Amino acid sequence: MESGFYGSSTDGSLKCKFEESGLANTHDIMEKAVRWFRSRSIFVVAYGTGCGAIEMPPTFTSRYDAERMGVVGVATPRQADLIILSGYLAYKTLRRVIRTYEQMQKPRYIMTLGSCPINGGMYWDSYNTIKKLDDYLPIDVSVTGCMPRPEAVIDGFVLLQERIRNGEKAGWEKYDENFEFYKENQKRVLGGHIDPSYETDWYNLKSGGKA
Ligand code: SF4
Repeated sequence: MESGFYGSSTDGSLKCKFEESGLANTHDIMEKAVRWFRSRSIFVVAYGTGCGAIEMPPTFTSRYDAERMGVVGVATPRQADLIILSGYLAYKTLRRVIRTYEQMQKPRYIMTLGSCPINGGMYWDSYNTIKKLDDYLPIDVSVTGCMPRPEAVIDGFVLLQERIRNGEKAGWEKYDENFEFYKENQKRVLGGHIDPSYETDWYNLKSGGKA
């Protein structure tokens, strides 16, 4: 049987319509639907860093109500799709952020707020602040400003949703492909031991495995 999408039309016009729009078969249609649903159910892990954390309450409560766009907060990284890094990051914070990001299930996304994660912002010459976060973690959307208002944050959600819907290459794929590059940069500022170690034998910890 010929593969393709068949609707209720007997003359095949429905099939032609789908073909014209580039949705030639059931797989394409399902892919597009999954991407659309995914873009409208973004769970954001509750994590605040820098000045922007204070913009989150109005973004998620009744005034701006991010939930109407399918963007909601969750308490744990294992249930989250998105982490918002809402300002400057000290090296100490970066260690926790890496751990949180790596606990999130794929597909996972990172959005940053403000100029600090892009170029250090007003901490550009600080001895303990990250200057270019993109060297350590893959950023999907950067919302600029110091500090961006909730309208701008919502604009960032819209952009991320558009990218998910279009099936654009996401940061987590870039992270997987260039894992060595990111790990090298992370080690350069955090030292050789980034918890948890990837060599840890978790199953044999009690019987002599090394953490
Ligand atoms: S960009 Fe401005 S508001 Fe944002 S963390 Fe930096 S100093 Fe704070």
